[in-house]
Parts: sequence; structure tokens; C-alpha cells
Amino acid sequence: MMNCKKAVSMIPAYLEDSLDAKDLQAFLEHIDNCDDCSEELSIQFLITEGLSTLSTGDSYDLQTAMTDKVRESHHDIDVHNRLFLLRNIGVVLVILMTVAAFIGAYMVFLR
Ligand SMILES: [Zn+2]
Repeated sequence: MMNCKKAVSMIPAYLEDSLDAKDLQAFLEHIDNCDDCSEELSIQFLITEGLSTLSTGDSYDLQTAMTDKVRESHHDIDVHNRLFLLRNIGVVLVILMTVAAFIGAYMVFLR
């Protein structure tokens, strides 16, 4: 579990979408479980997004945008983890098939 200092230091990178999947997952886990940091994230998000909203003149619900962003990040991590799992299952299958092929060849050889 990362500490608050580390989590807070990652907020700007999170808002720029520049965290890698591993950091992003650790960061989100912390944010989900830590009210202080989740509040800090909201504040920094509101400042960053609020400024760009002011400059473009768009008005939209920043709190909703914030919630959407975090939800989207969770989705990204889910997809990432699922792909990782699939890749591992694929590797295991290839190994099993290779072993099976060897055993098959060995049986034929013994006959
Ligand atoms: Zn924290």
C-alpha cells in the first residue's frame, strides 16, 4: 500500500494520464481507500479542469467529470489486468500443448 505522500505526488501525473498501469493501479487503490487523498485529487482535478474549462468557456459538471475519470481509470486497469491474465493463460496453454506433443511423440516412439 502506498503512503499518502507518494499518492499525492502522483496526482499531477494521474491527471495528465501519464501513469503506467502498475502505478495507476496502486494509485487508484490508495485513492479508493483514503479520503484525504481522494479529496486532494478532487481539488487538483477541479483546479486543472476548472482552468481549462474557463479558457474554453464550456460549462460542465466538474464533480461528475471527476467521478467519470476515476471510473474510466478503473476500467482501464480492469482491461489491462484481463489482457494480462489472458496472455498468461495463453502461455500456459502453449506449454501444455508442447508437453502433450512430446508425450504423444514419446508414446509413438515406445510402440
Ligand atoms: Zn492517502
